Parts: sequence; C-alpha cells; structure tokens
Amino acid sequence: MKRDEFLSTVDEKLEPILADVLRRSAGETEFHQAVVEVLQSIGRVIAKHPEYADNALIERICEPERQIIFRVPWVDDAGNVQISRGFRVQFNSALGPYKGGIRFHPTVNLGIVKFLGFEQIFKNALTGLPIGGGKGGSDFNPRGRSDAEVMRFCQSFMTELHRHIGEYTDVPAGDIGVGGREIGYLFGQYKRLTNRYEAGVLTGKALSYGGSQARKEATGYGAAYFVDRMLRTRKMDFEGKRVSVSGSGNVATYAMEKIIEFGGLIVSCSDSSGYIVDENGIDLDLVKEIKQKRRGRISEYVKLKGAGAHFVEKGSIWDVPCDVAMPSATQNELTGKDAQTLVKNGLIAVGEGANMPSTPEAVRVFQEAGILFAPGKAANAGGVATSALEMQQNASRASWTFERTEERLAEIMAHIHDTCAETADEYGSPGDYVLGANIAGFVRVAEAMDALGVI
Ligand code: GLU
Repeated sequence: MKRDEFLSTVDEKLEPILADVLRRSAGETEFHQAVVEVLQSIGRVIAKHPEYADNALIERICEPERQIIFRVPWVDDAGNVQISRGFRVQFNSALGPYKGGIRFHPTVNLGIVKFLGFEQIFKNALTGLPIGGGKGGSDFNPRGRSDAEVMRFCQSFMTELHRHIGEYTDVPAGDIGVGGREIGYLFGQYKRLTNRYEAGVLTGKALSYGGSQARKEATGYGAAYFVDRMLRTRKMDFEGKRVSVSGSGNVATYAMEKIIEFGGLIVSCSDSSGYIVDENGIDLDLVKEIKQKRRGRISEYVKLKGAGAHFVEKGSIWDVPCDVAMPSATQNELTGKDAQTLVKNGLIAVGEGANMPSTPEAVRVFQEAGILFAPGKAANAGGVATSALEMQQNASRASWTFERTEERLAEIMAHIHDTCAETADEYGSPGDYVLGANIAGFVRVAEAMDALGVI
C-alpha cells in the first residue's frame, strides 16, 4: 500500500502520527503494516478516552526505546570468514524486561525485526504477565550449515549481544531458525562471557539446564487452545474438522499435536519447498522424524509414507479444502486470493500460529465473510507466556511438572481469548478478535506508560 492509502485508513487524529512513523521508517514495509493495523483499531479507544493520545503516548509506543545493529563475524568449516548482521530491537519495557525471540533467516532486516518487536509489545501485554516487547535476529542462514558452524555463529552473535541483555533487562528466546540447539549455544556463551549462571536471561532452554516443561509445545498448543475456545463461541469444536497447518517447525508441529488430541483431522502441512496432503490424517510422528531428527524436507513424507499422501511443490497449501486454517509458517504467507479460495471451500475459522501470516487483504476477506479469525498476537501468545513461566521458575529456582505448566498455559489462553472477545464487545464489534486484541493490548501498555511519566 502507498503512503496516502495507509493514512486514509486511520482515524483523522491518528493520521499525523502515522505519517510521522512512515517518514521515519522509510522502506520498512512489514513494520508499516503492523503499525497501521494497530492504529486502525485504536481510533475507537481515542474517541472514548482522548487522554490516551496525550503526551505523545502513541508516538512513543511506535518508536523503539533502543535499536542495536551489529556485525557478526564467524568462520565457516572451510576456514573462510563470513559476515552476518545482528539485530536487537528493544521496543518497549513499560510492563517488564524486553521479551521476544531471535530469528535467524536470510530475510531478516531491521524492518522485519521492528514489525516483530512491535507485535510483541501487544502480544506480551495480552498475556497479563510482566513482560515488555522486543525482538532480535540475524540474516544468517542456518540451512545447510554444520552443527559446528551454527555453534560458532551463535557464539559470535552472543559475544556482542551479551552486553545488552540480562534477566532484568532483556530476555531473548527462539523464533524461526532458533530452537533448542541454538538457545543452548547462546546460553553457553553468555555464561562464559559473564561468569554468571543467569538462567532467566534466555528462555526456551532445554530441561537439562533450567528450561521449562511445555515451553517447546507452548506456541502450538496455545494456538490450538485459543481456536478451540473461539469455536465454542459458535457451539463448535475441533472434533472431525479438517485442518490445514502451514509450516512444519515448532509452532506447526505442536499445533497439529494438540488439534489431533482435540479430535481434528490434519489434512496438510508444509515447508518452504511445498506442501503435503494426507487425507487419512498427517502422521505427526513421521513429520517429527523428518523435520526434528533429520532436519530434512517435508517431501520425504510421501516416500516414507507411501500410498495415500502426495506432495505439491511450491503451490499454495490454502488450495486444500479445510474447515480450520492455521497459518504457522511466516509473515504474509496467506494472501487475499488464498483467503477467497478458503472461504469458497467452506472455511469456518483461522488461527494464526505465526506472526502476521495473513496479509491485510486476507484479513478483510475473512472478516467480510464472517469467518472466525484469531490474529497471531492473541492466538500465538502461548509461547511467550510460557517463556514468562520459565522466567518465573528460574527466579524461584523451581521446576514445575508438565501438567502444571500446561494447565497455566491453558488458563492464560482462555484469559487472552476472553479479554479479546470482551473488548471487542465493549467497543461495538462483537467477534472482532483483531480489534479486541489490539485495543486490549494497547490499553494495558498505555496505562503503564502513562503512570511512568514521559519515558
Ligand atoms: N518468538 C516467539 C514469539 O513470537 C516467542 C518469544 C519468547 O518466548 O520470548 O512470540
């Protein structure tokens, strides 16, 4: 969208604020998309509570507190020196230490990290837990890199990052390309550089050194819990529903696991090379074997499974008819055209496992068709919420059982769902979870910032 088209979509009072954000962040398209969506929603808050626009509060929320960009030199297995770029955007700490993942992917740039950091502020606020918003990453591409290369890269990345983080300052975790292995290498290097066993400085740690039960599963499980509760508002559930889940990483895998437990039939999943369809229901153990153990491609599923399944190279997973769509791969992966296809094929609900996976046009198509739509900042908040539970366990030197942790996760997801639904009702758009999530998240941050003076 062009600058003027963006401006006309927000409340008149917010136009100059948005114009300023667009001017200061030229070219950061994903960041613009995320800001516009939030500003579109909060026009109604300003109409009701003009004081939230006082003291440049909205302008301050749209400007990161701190942005760190750094060189990450590392040596590959052939002995060549490679250079990657590292980022950490410390967006907002009104509610607690900056909290948010680190992404390793060749597409990472400042605009992507800012969009993710901005989303994280409101997502974290929605959890009701004491965590601010931040995000980091690198354009390092882990694909095809050996274990030793990934370790050297992580050590170099942390050699700079360690001076900017801490359990009371900024607590990174994983995201795309950063899982348990990378968090281990990052934590090892942090510990070595600081000579402190500061368990709460990173989350997503393995159970062997201070991690939390259910953290690995939490984003996917949480998204399934959220959608289950959303379906129940229309007296439905997952039982017998056909479900497509894009992606086959951490979020997608555990969303599938919980949905299967809830009685859903997973008909398709994908990776960046294409998608698989298995009308008998995706064999999740096989997906785990391929993606987690072998770090392989999803197409291998068809070879291993034999009859009944097929692989479609490159095409759109959203061509597969389903009742519930769970986009759980990456931003803007589900377009307006995909949304139209899904609606035409009888879609009931969408739960965003990834951050901003639906384009604005897709969201419009879903909403106009009356589809239940759970935006990522609400539906995928279970991951970061469980990170906050990991911090809580680290601070009290305790470790909870899987059952206790999952029970807390389920309560938090119910709380987020109900807060979004009630806020949407209060602001005159029942069932609009986008509006509900943006307003409820914004109000919690705005109240804290207001109490803290001009910060
Ligand atoms: N990267 C995840 C997210 O997008 C998790 C962040 C965390 O646990 O800090 O919310």
